Amino acid sequence: MKLTVIGGSASCPNPGGACSSFLVSHEGFSVLLDCGPDSISVLRQHTKLRDIGAVVISHLHSDHTLDLVPFRYGLRYIPGGRGPQIPLWLPPGGEDFLDRLGKLFALGAEAEQPFFATEFAVAEFDPDAKKNVGPFSIEFMPTHHFIDCWAMRLEAGGRRLVYLADSGFVQPLVEFAQGADVVICEATLPSEATGMPENSGHLTAAQAGEIAQRAGAGHLLLTHLWDENDVQLVAKEARSTFMGAITIAESGVQLVV
Ligand SMILES: [Zn+2]
Ligand SMILES: [Zn+2]
Repeated sequence: MKLTVIGGSASCPNPGGACSSFLVSHEGFSVLLDCGPDSISVLRQHTKLRDIGAVVISHLHSDHTLDLVPFRYGLRYIPGGRGPQIPLWLPPGGEDFLDRLGKLFALGAEAEQPFFATEFAVAEFDPDAKKNVGPFSIEFMPTHHFIDCWAMRLEAGGRRLVYLADSGFVQPLVEFAQGADVVICEATLPSEATGMPENSGHLTAAQAGEIAQRAGAGHLLLTHLWDENDVQLVAKEARSTFMGAITIAESGVQLVV
């Protein structure tokens, strides 16, 4: 598998960056995990929008979904870009969410047809079932977040990539990430924020490292980061708990899984 970081910013794009979005490719098939603000601009530096085989969304917060709007416009209006619908897998409740989002932007003649469904084959995944998307098998696990959110475990070609999406620290994350070749884990919080209840839906870098270490992961990709929290310090904190390789999720970074 090849993993390309499209965006690794937290709730708002860092300067020159993008919010959560990861492109995973194997055997010529590409799946996009999340589609946060500014991700389409970065994504277009790496692939044509039409070459995305499927999109899977972890949860419905805007920092993981908002660029579905320009994605839709790109599929519809990029010169020579029309084509078949791209499968868009949303978490439970996602179809209603997308319907409401589309209605906000479907103005004039565009209001006469579904806003997203002309370009995407929109459906909700069953979080309890293993899903086959192109060459990938994907399993889901609920995280500990402010709204329902699902971590994803992708397997293809005998390799395992785990994306823990947004979450506070809970033991099942360790079990879900067990044996991952690469684990993508958020490190939103500065270390002093640990234990504050209003932060319980996110992780520190030291916690991300602890999850990766206890899961026996080979490589930790730290994501959901604020520029204001010095990334070198973030990496150092993760290194205090994780013995494997650590990479910061900056837009354009590529890893072989
Ligand atoms: Zn979130
Ligand atoms: Zn987020």
